[in-house]
Amino acid sequence: MSDRDTNNPANERPAALAGCACDVLVVGAGPAGSAAAAAAARAGLRCVVVEAEAFPRFHIGESLLPLGDAVFRQLGVSERLHAAGFVQKRGAQLRTPDGAHTVLFDFQTAKHVDPPYALQVPRAQFDALLLDHAQACGARRLAGRAIALRDVVDGVEVDVATAAGVTTVCAKALVDASGRAGFVARRHGVRIADEELRKASVYAHFRGVPVDPGERAGDTRIVALPDLGWMWFIPLPDGVMSVGAVLDLDTWRGRTKGDPAQLFADVAATSPYAASLLAAAERVGECHVESGFSYRASAYCGERWFLAGDAGSFLDPIFSTGVQMALRSGIEAAAAAGAVVRRGVAGSAGARARFDRTLQARYRFVRRFVTGFYDPATRDIFFAPRRMFGIARAVTTVLAGGFDLGWLDRLRLQVFFAIGRLQRRYDLVPRVSGAAAQSPANVAEAPTSLERA
Ligand SMILES: Cc1cc2nc3c(=O)[nH]c(=O)nc-3n(C[C@H](O)[C@H](O)[C@H](O)COP(=O)(O)OP(=O)(O)OC[C@H]3O[C@@H](n4cnc5c(N)ncnc54)[C@H](O)[C@@H]3O)c2cc1C
Repeated sequence: MSDRDTNNPANERPAALAGCACDVLVVGAGPAGSAAAAAAARAGLRCVVVEAEAFPRFHIGESLLPLGDAVFRQLGVSERLHAAGFVQKRGAQLRTPDGAHTVLFDFQTAKHVDPPYALQVPRAQFDALLLDHAQACGARRLAGRAIALRDVVDGVEVDVATAAGVTTVCAKALVDASGRAGFVARRHGVRIADEELRKASVYAHFRGVPVDPGERAGDTRIVALPDLGWMWFIPLPDGVMSVGAVLDLDTWRGRTKGDPAQLFADVAATSPYAASLLAAAERVGECHVESGFSYRASAYCGERWFLAGDAGSFLDPIFSTGVQMALRSGIEAAAAAGAVVRRGVAGSAGARARFDRTLQARYRFVRRFVTGFYDPATRDIFFAPRRMFGIARAVTTVLAGGFDLGWLDRLRLQVFFAIGRLQRRYDLVPRVSGAAAQSPANVAEAPTSLERA
């Protein structure tokens, strides 16, 4: 490991950072922060990235999307990532609770996907690699926690608590990539809870969970639960499987009297398929719980601050979109912050407005898929691949991380959601989701084979 990776205070030199010696200050070094720092440094800006935790550190969010590779290429880190020995995910499988019906979203069929796989990454290793890359690009790392924020003439000042005491960093622009902590979003009161998507999660790592054979071994398996929650099975290197459940927050609240491990076991027991995968598995490490999602921001930027990744918005992780959205918004935040540095607040008004519009629109676009997944009728349609008019391909492209579709694919998605609305009134496809699926007649109608979307 190079000395850039360490938390060695000798690398930090907090005193040298005072006095607006910095163009762009990035708070947080998860994927959004490291992407922002790398992009800013590559654009020739003087950049400091402040991170509170000692890396490597555990983080959830391990399944990436194939179209994220374009972002890695843009940052110049793709080769390093592909050489790091991560698991290759060639698709995502969606299964009914009993595992009888599986739909495969195979990334080979998605548009613009090269290579046709994504990586499944232990975040400790992945985040450390990205931060190291940002430093290699020229960003300076400061180990410490940002604790206070002030506007000053021509910039912002941030107090950072480090091992050597509190130091103040002055910068011309600030990228908040502090994740769900929301360093800036909470101070400016711009975070808005998404009341329709009040979810919580319980998860852990396991060994001894069987994987599918051949090239399907790296697929993410998503198990739809009878109460409209769902579980993920994400294969990681060294035989580790990340397994978690996402539940409705109110359901979760009623069940938290016991310990998280018991909650996890209770939820897994509602799916015969998940229970069978876990029958001989051994948990490694603790069981985590996380709640308080989803949310967005009423504004993703101000005159000198920009929200990237989870610091701005967080969507239910059903489609593994979090890291990709974090990376992209990190790069976009660095570009908009660069406009502030080079052209000043007045001269960067257009860039700032564009940044806000882009992030608002991306949230709305992905959210539509997420809320669709929690609507029993639309979930039925996810289980019923429609090849006609290229609808399945358009859906798979979105699930591969394609958020910027052309008009024809957007039209195909409209048709997809329209079929979901019709399914509420007419049984267009077998009902395999939600309460209606409990009817024996409907279960008997459900197909039992693995189908490709
Ligand atoms: C249950 C669950 C499952 C998920 N599964 C997936 C998945 O499979 N695929 C996927 O793509 N996404 C997934 N996500 C989402 C994913 O975890 C996030 O979207 C992603 O980590 C966002 O990256 P980020 O850089 O914005 O924030 P983070 O990765 O959270 O990084 C923020 C960093 O900021 C630091 N920080 C915070 N406050 C301060 C401060 N004041 N000063 C200095 N540093 C600070 C933190 O220490 C942290 O390192 C999941 C999320 C959850 C909750």
